[in-house]
Amino acid sequence: MSDIIIETRDLSRAFRVGDQEIMALDSLSLQIARGEFVGIMGPSGSGKTTLLNLLGCLDQPSSGSIVFEGQDISGLSEREIDDLRLKRMGFIFQTFNLMPTFTALENVAFPMEIAGIPRDERVERARQILKQLGLIERIHHKPRELSAGENQRVAIARALANNPSVILADEPTGNLDSRTTEEISQLLSDLNTEYRVAIILVTHDASVARAASRRLWMIDGSLGQDSD
Ligand code: ADP
Ligand code: MG
Repeated sequence: MSDIIIETRDLSRAFRVGDQEIMALDSLSLQIARGEFVGIMGPSGSGKTTLLNLLGCLDQPSSGSIVFEGQDISGLSEREIDDLRLKRMGFIFQTFNLMPTFTALENVAFPMEIAGIPRDERVERARQILKQLGLIERIHHKPRELSAGENQRVAIARALANNPSVILADEPTGNLDSRTTEEISQLLSDLNTEYRVAIILVTHDASVARAASRRLWMIDGSLGQDSD
């Protein structure tokens, strides 16, 4: 299997607003290696979220292509895309996006339920991941009974549930204080090594981006290499 897990070729996304066309992404070409940890920085409006949404198959490009694990995703059916998102990708958001009525354990087990994993197996795996993330004492707590940092760890555990090959994280520390931000950055770095999962992390915070092994800078929908 190729060492490149994600490749974009001349990826563009235009938005029409009134009679104006905004090039949110402008012919962006990028390669991410298997197991790589890439940090993407750049000013607000530079196209970071647009890029992650395209990589996560939440949006479609105006032109250009995305090759995921050797497959051009434009050739996949909706069903195949859903399957890819469920089993090959994990998502982490600034606002956690946990199910408020589910416990931590249920939140982490849920993607495994959708993937058809038997109950005992998914509960056991959810428990294991939560334990590894230091949340064994919190598995029966609901999001409102947890701190922001704990909720983000539950969300990270959920992202790992189906053993994805990549995690896409959009400003995952945007709602956290500086100490928790540091913990979560360290955790992502550890998980990148331990699970050999690639991470694409969008952040405003240079200290968070430092956890990544490669940093990219976005400006006006294009990429430049970070100077260090
Ligand atoms: P970032 O995440 O770097 O802050 P975004 O990817 O959200 O940037 O946005 C890039 C550009 O595309 C911005 O100019 C933004 O206003 C525009 N944009 C993003 N999404 C839409 C949309 N759904 N409709 C119109 N314009 C959009
Ligand atoms: Mg954004």
